[in-house]
Amino acid sequence: MSRGILFVISAPSGAGKTTLLKGMMGRVTDIVFSISHTTRKPRRGEVDGVDYHFISKEMFQQMIAEKSFLEYAQVHDNFYGTSLSAVELQLQDGIDVVLDIDVQGADILRNTDSLEAAYIFISPPDLDVLEKRLRGRGTESEELISLRLKNAREEMEAASRYDYMIVNDMIDESTDLLVSIVLAERARAHRLPSGAAISNRVLI
Ligand code: ADP
Ligand code: 5GP
Repeated sequence: MSRGILFVISAPSGAGKTTLLKGMMGRVTDIVFSISHTTRKPRRGEVDGVDYHFISKEMFQQMIAEKSFLEYAQVHDNFYGTSLSAVELQLQDGIDVVLDIDVQGADILRNTDSLEAAYIFISPPDLDVLEKRLRGRGTESEELISLRLKNAREEMEAASRYDYMIVNDMIDESTDLLVSIVLAERARAHRLPSGAAISNRVLI
């Protein structure tokens, strides 16, 4: 069995990453979403163990000390981290894993030797649209919306470090593109299970 593929997806808050991920995961099999740990408080409708593992700052510090995270970062005044063991077990089982992490976390993984991943950046069409979407979602205070918009400008500068870019204008088209990227990564020659097929291809 071949090892699963790690998909690292980042976007400024409000760009539509959650929306596109849900759409893609509903159409592709053998792929799971890695549930991060965070010190942020749950938003209305968020469920512990489904959207995030919501934990205290003390617990987060303890997990850092125990080296439980594949990566972690402070984003918008809260800590977020990816559990190393949860991701590794799925990849070993041949299941693809999606990490929804910020640009700092993606930089850490890109600089981690021997860790292979496909990096996807989701961008809003422009910052005015981003602001409308953040307000339309209605989950953040005015102060938090301002902080997220300020961070968005810096996050957009990281887009060129990613393998793929999706400009999320129309939801359906963007979801189709995300599905296509996942399928294309699965079809990459070096991931094919048969070594013979790969060497034939090189020789001919
Ligand atoms: P993120 O996970 O990146 O923070 P969300 O998926 O929560 O963003 O989307 C933010 C808001 O924008 C939500 O209210 C969502 O319904 C809306 N949205 C997402 N994508 C689009 C789109 N292509 N066109 C219009 N609205 C969108
Ligand atoms: P939100 O609070 O809107 O759910 O997420 C805020 C930001 O934290 C998003 O950019 C999201 O991608 C990022 N994030 C969520 N989980 C993780 C994680 O485990 N690690 C890192 N580095 N960022 C994360």
